[in-house]
Amino acid sequence: MINVAIDGPAGAGKSTIAKAAAKALGYIYVDTGALYRTVALSASRAGALDNDKKIIELLNTIDVKLGFADDGAQCVYLNGEDVSSLIRTPEISMGASRVSAIPKVREFLLDLQRNIAKENNVIMDGRDIATVVLPNAKPKIFLFASPECRAQRRYKELIEKGEAVTFEEVLADVNQRDYQDSHRKIAPLKPSEDSIMTDTSSLNLQESIDLVIKTIKENI
Ligand code: C5P
Repeated sequence: MINVAIDGPAGAGKSTIAKAAAKALGYIYVDTGALYRTVALSASRAGALDNDKKIIELLNTIDVKLGFADDGAQCVYLNGEDVSSLIRTPEISMGASRVSAIPKVREFLLDLQRNIAKENNVIMDGRDIATVVLPNAKPKIFLFASPECRAQRRYKELIEKGEAVTFEEVLADVNQRDYQDSHRKIAPLKPSEDSIMTDTSSLNLQESIDLVIKTIKENI
């Protein structure tokens, strides 16, 4: 099976770029952030987002599954409920970053991710795909861009969705999530030694997609 890993910080364009590249190459696109977001949603519903012990207990009662439509679109299910859009809020973004620092949560989601990659050609996007989930992935791409650039993109996305946010709030969230994701003890966000470093700060979306597809084709 072809397993491509794309890691990088929040807002580097990973999901849009990986999705487009997967479509062009005929692979399944797996957005692993959606899994952490789903755990965060269940914790938020249980009023347990700031309680690690409760979150760990919750893992015994929840079932998280990914589904893929014919056009490759990914849906995520929490106990059978399609929560794909409910997990796209700033509160759940921050919550996902919190729950993802709990080792038991990462363990809980590991097999699910590996099993999908065992059975399908995938482009998997996340933070620790190259370093932990799929150490044999090829190529491993680390996509990044400056914090301001990433905040600007996310800000535009949220405004288009009608969320009431300011650029400063989004930038502060990006910086805080970067810090949390790269300083946690377990599976911190960092490139693996054999990652291909790809900076999208000065590229537009189409240029970034083209570059990633070229990188995959040349390194597969
Ligand atoms: O990619 P996305 O922004 O949806 O991810 C939400 C959060 O989930 C990230 O900030 C990160 O803390 C966590 N995450 C992770 N490992 C992954 C994917 C996401 O820790 N493979």
